[in-house]
Amino acid sequence: MRSTMQDVPLSLARLMQYGTTVHADATVVTATAEGTRSRTYGEVGRRAARLAHVLRGLGVTGDQRVGTFMWNNVEHLEAYLAVPSMGAVLHTVNIRLFPEQVTYVVNHAEDSVVIVDASLVTPFAALLPTFETVTHVLVAGPESGSVDLTPLEASGKTVLRYEEALAGAPDAFGWPEIDERDAAATCYTSGTTGSPKGVVYSHRSAYLHSMAMAMGDNAGIGPSDRVLPIVPMFHANAWGLPYAAVLVGASLVMPDRWLQAEPLVRLIEETRPTLTGGVPTIFNDLLGWVDEHPADLTSVRLALCGGSAVPLALQQALWERHGVRVQQAWGMTETSPVATSGKPPVGVDEEEAWRYRAGQGRVLGGVEARIVGDDGQPLPHDGEAVGELEVRGPWITGAYYRDADPAKFHDGWLRTGDVGTIDPRGYVTLTDRAKDVIKSGGEWISSVDLENALMGHPDVIEAAVVGIPDEKWQERPLATVVVRAGATVTPADLREHLAGSVARWQLPDAWTFIEAVPRTSVGKFDKRTLRKAYADGELE
Ligand code: ADP
Repeated sequence: MRSTMQDVPLSLARLMQYGTTVHADATVVTATAEGTRSRTYGEVGRRAARLAHVLRGLGVTGDQRVGTFMWNNVEHLEAYLAVPSMGAVLHTVNIRLFPEQVTYVVNHAEDSVVIVDASLVTPFAALLPTFETVTHVLVAGPESGSVDLTPLEASGKTVLRYEEALAGAPDAFGWPEIDERDAAATCYTSGTTGSPKGVVYSHRSAYLHSMAMAMGDNAGIGPSDRVLPIVPMFHANAWGLPYAAVLVGASLVMPDRWLQAEPLVRLIEETRPTLTGGVPTIFNDLLGWVDEHPADLTSVRLALCGGSAVPLALQQALWERHGVRVQQAWGMTETSPVATSGKPPVGVDEEEAWRYRAGQGRVLGGVEARIVGDDGQPLPHDGEAVGELEVRGPWITGAYYRDADPAKFHDGWLRTGDVGTIDPRGYVTLTDRAKDVIKSGGEWISSVDLENALMGHPDVIEAAVVGIPDEKWQERPLATVVVRAGATVTPADLREHLAGSVARWQLPDAWTFIEAVPRTSVGKFDKRTLRKAYADGELE
């Protein structure tokens, strides 16, 4: 029997039209060098229509890719809304990739137009001649009226100022009916595991993911929220926070390019966001700042944190010292990105609740997760058996764009490369990334467990643990540690600290104190660089 329900496509055009009319009064506040600027969702909707006209005029008529090379700001949101809604495909380029990777992704996606933030014109101009398919560049942002366009024009491409182009365009656009399975946006993985790979989101997947972000057990977003995405809009769609906010009429606070602790804290105090999201290193920086320079962060009812394991010590410090509740989420570019998130189960005591918060959260409604052993067979969800996490669902990719990589897929499931357990209630706990696990004498040592324990030491700001070759044991852990200024902590002290929670044979015997743990283009600990530095003799 067929249902009697209307077959209305789940499209970002619908999401945008709903959010910018029904919630026309919600606002997008963007940080500036002097303070903030603000636009309502109603204005954003009208400007998105103008942008769609401009892009049509530049020849974007089908599913052409429109790239963005931008920070988290209101113009980027306008592109997020206009480009997919007109039937084209938004390609958010990670501005922090290596230059040759930027060239690779723009050419691979075949971007035809790129919108670039005026503050990024210089690095962008150096790359522009290498973009084979780009014909037009739009320069956006508050400084776009005054920035010198000559370096861009030298490429021979047509360069326009965003505001001037929008000024002459109408406020309404005939948004087309879109097949929900068509491409809406594309993101490339940040390439920590090889050359970047393209993931293409559909309208349906983006719509469903937005709903999942707003669900109660996830971020629980509603119209009374003010959402501050610190996670960049050029990385996995800022975890879907902008689309989720527009869908439910939550206001947005955008940090633009002011991503250091001091301006972020100022922005939080000034705009009082209720919800934020970012990688652990950002929150660690924030914590370090507010510990030294007291500030009121209590407007933030929830800080979503993920991208790498979130140390329990960080979560506890933010909660106990600053009243900020951290909620861990897990995902990948390939999973839109959020696939697990969640609060501890109802009714558990405080100590057990912290144990749950140390894990990656509960698999979201709509996503299926399993763990498999080395033989590819599923293992029990008993919270004990350890295997590779595999996921499937309507916002999980089933392939890469023009890049066959069958090893990443297994019987219709995405192989995540992450290793851990699932308990009977669907809570996922990751012990490591498969390639970061330290294999010592036939046993596995979890780098994440060691880092968590180390970062629980009061003098340790950051710690990253990697496996280094060992003749006898195959690999042994090397702990790289950043300590608080003036601290006199020694490896022996740290070994003693670890001995309370880690088995003796797992204790690192190699230690090095460094100034800062190197970070990837999206702010995660860069273990590849650490391993290479060790191999090159740059770490003792
Ligand atoms: P890249 O693989 O280039 O870093 P992604 O940002 O897509 O790009 O990274 C996804 C990976 O990040 C996951 O496979 C996982 O290893 C890691 N990750 C994300 N969230 C968490 C988390 N909460 N805990 C541990 N690891 C995480």
